[in-house]
Amino acid sequence: MVSPSSTSTIARGKNVLFVTWGCAKNEVDTDRMRALLLAHGYSETTDSETADVAIVNTCSFLASATEESIETTLQIAEEASAGVRELPIVMCGCVPSRYGSQLPEQLPEVAAFVRADEEDGIVGVVSEVLGVSLASPSVIAAHGMLRTIEGASAYVKISDGCDRFCAFCAIPYIRGRYHSRSADEILSEVASLMKGGVREIILIGQDTGIWGNDLGKTADGETLTLAWLMRQVAQVVHPYGGWVRVLYLQPEGMTDNLIATIRDIPECLPYIDIPIQHCNERVLASMGRSGSADELRVLFDRLRSEIPNMVLRTTGMCGFPGETEEESDELYDFIQEQEFDYTSVFTYSPEEGTKGAHMPNQVPNEVKMERTQRLIDLVEELGFAATARHVGERCEVIIDGVEESDGITELIGHAWFQAPDSDGAVHIAEGEARVGDIVLCDLVDSFCYEIIGEIVDEKNV
Ligand code: SF4
Repeated sequence: MVSPSSTSTIARGKNVLFVTWGCAKNEVDTDRMRALLLAHGYSETTDSETADVAIVNTCSFLASATEESIETTLQIAEEASAGVRELPIVMCGCVPSRYGSQLPEQLPEVAAFVRADEEDGIVGVVSEVLGVSLASPSVIAAHGMLRTIEGASAYVKISDGCDRFCAFCAIPYIRGRYHSRSADEILSEVASLMKGGVREIILIGQDTGIWGNDLGKTADGETLTLAWLMRQVAQVVHPYGGWVRVLYLQPEGMTDNLIATIRDIPECLPYIDIPIQHCNERVLASMGRSGSADELRVLFDRLRSEIPNMVLRTTGMCGFPGETEEESDELYDFIQEQEFDYTSVFTYSPEEGTKGAHMPNQVPNEVKMERTQRLIDLVEELGFAATARHVGERCEVIIDGVEESDGITELIGHAWFQAPDSDGAVHIAEGEARVGDIVLCDLVDSFCYEIIGEIVDEKNV
């Protein structure tokens, strides 16, 4: 539903406020919409006072995320009406994808709803909402891979959707079936990001390991796989001294070819992110996932022997329906035994429309919270120790920015073993560098997930 609220005919001078909830994948979607709008003459503002339209890119992965997204929307609407001004809101992403038809009636404050798979049409929607006529709507297609560039690392989405239908996850219902982005589109985007100053490419998707399964072969008859894609991306980032990281690999995605690529190609970081969710075979089967603690052990042992210096990240879920005290202990013991460098911990939440929400034996909230807290305490202990183990190393650090607090200015960067936004940073008290510079650092101390670094030598790329 679109309700025009202004009669202007030019986009230039129209300010767009972007608010993004959710994961890195959603950030990428917002960035794509931002780039499309900027290419059509719109400007960005971070101040709702000066905004002509607000785009709220929503998350609906968990019920709490849906609530936060809707609350933000209502808050923006309330602030605008309190100031007696008009600020149309366009709600995008997962909430409209999930609840589409119910929303116009429930959220009359919103001028337009844009599902995740309709976001390439954002310029048309915003222009219609503002009553702006587009000079050349066809430009939208021509700018299909546009990104804006901010900072030294960029997430690049290689796929969307998921075919796995894990019993706790609403993603397949929100984002649809798995579909890989084409290699050409991904590689062009990587090339333009590197040219614009990015030095690390982080490949993301709901299930990155199966990239290419739905694409067939290259013109030369090569099978399209994630390993193939990483090698291609590595070639693009190589002249810049850049890095390639991949996140969200399912255990089955760790093929021999991928292991060899991560081991042998210097640009591909030995940072392995495999969200196991659980290790107990019965719980995994009930989640609709395969595997067991023993199978996972075999996988991680193999990874450790083939990629000796790798860093391991995972995700654990507490309180899935039917999870017993013993099964919860098994997950705890497994995470302790495997000494993951980084672990994200989730509390199970029964999501509308998923199989898990209809399962008997839902674990009481207080028990879920208790198991979650116990696991968080453990993963912090393991994570802080893993971070401290890097003290004494000398390695390259990508500079992400400058931070000032309590009168102290420091450079902030990250090393190969730290995924930006997730795993802590390297703090450098002295030296000069710009965002995107790659500097050689001695890692001299650590606190929690953070590292103190000293620049040894600067190597501008
Ligand atoms: S593999 Fe991940 S995105 Fe896909 S359904 Fe399972 S948890 Fe959700």
